[in-house]
Amino acid sequence: MDLNSNAESYDVAVIGGGPAGASAAAFIVRAGLRVCVLEQKCFPRQKVCGEFVAPAGWSVFADLDIAARLHRVAGPELQYVDVYPEWGPELRGTLPADAAGCCARAVSRDVLDFILLQRAAELGAAIFQPAHVSQVRGGARTGFEVFIAGWPLPLRARAVVLAHGSPRLGAMNSPSPGHYRTAGRPAAPPSGIRDCLGFKIHLENVHLPDNTTAIGGVEGLYAGLLRTGNSALAPNAVHATYRPRACYNLAFVVERKLLRRYGSAAELYAHLRRRNGGFGRCLSDARLTGDFLSCGPMEPGVREVYADGRFFVGNAAGEVHALIGEGMTLALCAGQLLGRVISDHRAALAGGEDLAVVGEAYRDRWLDRFGSRLHAGNAFSQVLMRPLLSAVAATYLHAFPDVLNQCIRWSGK
Ligand SMILES: Cc1cc2nc3c(=O)[nH]c(=O)nc-3n(C[C@H](O)[C@H](O)[C@H](O)COP(=O)(O)OP(=O)(O)OC[C@H]3O[C@@H](n4cnc5c(N)ncnc54)[C@H](O)[C@@H]3O)c2cc1C
Repeated sequence: MDLNSNAESYDVAVIGGGPAGASAAAFIVRAGLRVCVLEQKCFPRQKVCGEFVAPAGWSVFADLDIAARLHRVAGPELQYVDVYPEWGPELRGTLPADAAGCCARAVSRDVLDFILLQRAAELGAAIFQPAHVSQVRGGARTGFEVFIAGWPLPLRARAVVLAHGSPRLGAMNSPSPGHYRTAGRPAAPPSGIRDCLGFKIHLENVHLPDNTTAIGGVEGLYAGLLRTGNSALAPNAVHATYRPRACYNLAFVVERKLLRRYGSAAELYAHLRRRNGGFGRCLSDARLTGDFLSCGPMEPGVREVYADGRFFVGNAAGEVHALIGEGMTLALCAGQLLGRVISDHRAALAGGEDLAVVGEAYRDRWLDRFGSRLHAGNAFSQVLMRPLLSAVAATYLHAFPDVLNQCIRWSGK
């Protein structure tokens, strides 16, 4: 493939402009390479997510010089996590701040993704929106052709970053589509947590302290509730007189068979309020400020990290169970890591060296940093989705509260 032909050409084409793609693009362009981002949706747009950003995510924002911008639109600092099991005692854990004293805070996804992608553009990445990538052809030796729906010619790139948030984009992920691996060897995703769908709703008038996030659920359904930042899409936000009310995010993961039994997200919401005492209290006077958004199915597990010129970041590389509330932070940190590795091997992307060397370096550092965290997070989620198991765990943790705080740290917080 001739990378010097007339078609538009870049060192790196990033597919997907979510937290993984936007942060990877920003760091790679900062390393001095020509980067484009292809995002199928126009921003701002909402997305199913609990919107919790751990301190490690905030340090990536600081590195990109957007922490101050995001602080202005974020929810308050989060210091506690209250656990509401269906049965057994309620618990309170502490969310650690990082060494610089930075705490977790939530940001509405429409605002967060918009600001992050805007930052990649400010640093020099070319952003194409809406641009739905239908196919990626090529490899490390030849370079890539990236086909975009409705474009007459493919775009060309020496390497591609797959940040499309999914394991299922067939031709794009070849040579090993839907391939799960642990350190060095292919592995099936953990059983029992796969056939789940995700929902999100924003609410007002929730009885929950500003500095606390609540987690818990009922059999087959796991929910997280917190005060988030205000959404740019709030009704009437355009009027000068508009004063936003405190906005809360309720996100839940539900097994498909439970959804079938209850029929709709609204019925599941009512079921959660009825059956879970803690959530019932918090949501007793709550008002929904929009419609339920849905996504799924979810596929937690570690997948591919590098394959023949394709670098995977965010959920495309590995997905931690949604109920751990770490996916965005992992995506942001992986974008930063990829930028650093590419910066260390700049010559390879500019045409000189073997791309496989860069790929192996990225894969090793990725597995080292995130591999065990993903597996630990997915193991915790198995317990949390089962009321009997979580009741036993809650009784134990009630007696040994330090163990709960240790579990919170193991999950990456
Ligand atoms: C119910 C639920 C609650 C969650 N709660 C939290 C939480 O509280 N905290 C947290 O950190 N994480 C949470 N997560 C996980 C988090 O949302 C994801 O891990 C995160 O969004 C992954 O980022 P990403 O950039 O990899 O993918 P995405 O955010 O999915 O971004 C991928 C982007 O690629 C674009 N795209 C896809 N296909 C194409 C294509 N063919 N061409 C062009 N563009 C394309 C999409 O439009 C999208 O914008 C939650 C998830 C769920 C489901």
